[in-house]
Amino acid sequence: MTSRVRRVAVVGGGVAGLALAAGLPRSVEVVLHEAQPERARWGSALVLGAWARPALHRLGVLDSVTRAGSPVGAGRLFALDGRALTRPHDLHLLAVPRPGLLDALTAAVGPGVRVLHDEVLDPAELDADLVVGADGVRSRVRGLVDPGRAARLGTPWVALRGRLGAPPGAAAGEYWGPGLLVGLVPSPGGGHWFTAHRSTLGPEPLDVAAVHEEVRVLAQGAGAAVRSTVEDATAGLAATRLWVAPPMRRYVHGRYVVVGDAAHAMTPNLGRGAGEALLDAVTLADRVAAGGSLAAWQARRLPRTQAARTASSAVMRLALAERGAGVRDAVLRLSPAGDARPGGRR
Ligand SMILES: Cc1cc2nc3c(=O)[nH]c(=O)nc-3n(C[C@H](O)[C@H](O)[C@H](O)COP(=O)(O)OP(=O)(O)OC[C@H]3O[C@@H](n4cnc5c(N)ncnc54)[C@H](O)[C@@H]3O)c2cc1C
Repeated sequence: MTSRVRRVAVVGGGVAGLALAAGLPRSVEVVLHEAQPERARWGSALVLGAWARPALHRLGVLDSVTRAGSPVGAGRLFALDGRALTRPHDLHLLAVPRPGLLDALTAAVGPGVRVLHDEVLDPAELDADLVVGADGVRSRVRGLVDPGRAARLGTPWVALRGRLGAPPGAAAGEYWGPGLLVGLVPSPGGGHWFTAHRSTLGPEPLDVAAVHEEVRVLAQGAGAAVRSTVEDATAGLAATRLWVAPPMRRYVHGRYVVVGDAAHAMTPNLGRGAGEALLDAVTLADRVAAGGSLAAWQARRLPRTQAARTASSAVMRLALAERGAGVRDAVLRLSPAGDARPGGRR
């Protein structure tokens, strides 16, 4: 697929789909299909890296997203029992509530874009030069890009999220296993926390109380910050199984393209999914505007995002390691960022 794209159908109006609809030139006829517009109100804060800011700037939403979020200046890695594994390091992250990000992107979508609140049952029937699957990990478009990679993949892990009443202060950071990963993150209104652990609970929707109980048991040996967060948690609790996209060899096939989670849904522990979705969207919009080859776009986006997809699962395994956690922690403490290096133990 190369130049002269006049009509684009975007399946999915989440981060990737809205960013694409906002970024495409006015000369292109765009129809965006969103099956569950109420989804825009769901979800807690998303952490965005500084590397995602140029994409927000390109869409004209950097100021509004920055206002909706709060900076995450420093982060630190801890063992679950509360011992610091690394020194505090600069993060330059922005924690932004998902509704705030989606509101800003929605406001950036031009009046010429037709937004339909419908579910696309068969993307092959859409009348467009380009059909973009921004339809998340359960993507229907992915099967048209690569029939062998249509199905999402389950992971053994579930995530639990909740709100903190007050910023976590010096306790902010990630706490690594054995068997439980916990994050405490400042965000608008105080902060939020998340956990991940191996669980056989199901089917979905998961029983939040049952997931919470499993996390409580795993957190029994944890340090005070984690234990009190998990014990006292009631606000904004949500549980979800973590699903990922299959490894993809291409993102483009004929008139079909996948972006965001449809292309590379990954476990959330690297905080990359939404930022990469934004980058997919603006780079694809620019490529369409320039009439350039989508193969070149794919060559740029696929290696980076597939590497992130693989790395995030590897880091999740490391964070949750039940055997060898002591060795892992010792190596981390001796690493260049480690707490056991000169200048550590602050
Ligand atoms: C627990 C958890 C924590 C996370 N934390 C972070 C984080 O801190 N930082 C970060 O960067 N990322 C994070 N992520 C990942 C991030 O949420 C996703 O990468 C991002 O939302 C992907 O956006 P998307 O637009 O590609 O897909 P989605 O947000 O899934 O949007 C897809 C949209 O398509 C619609 N749709 C699907 N099928 C159809 C159809 N057939 N017809 C019409 N519409 C359809 C859906 O209704 C949905 O609105 C986290 C994910 C999880 C699960």
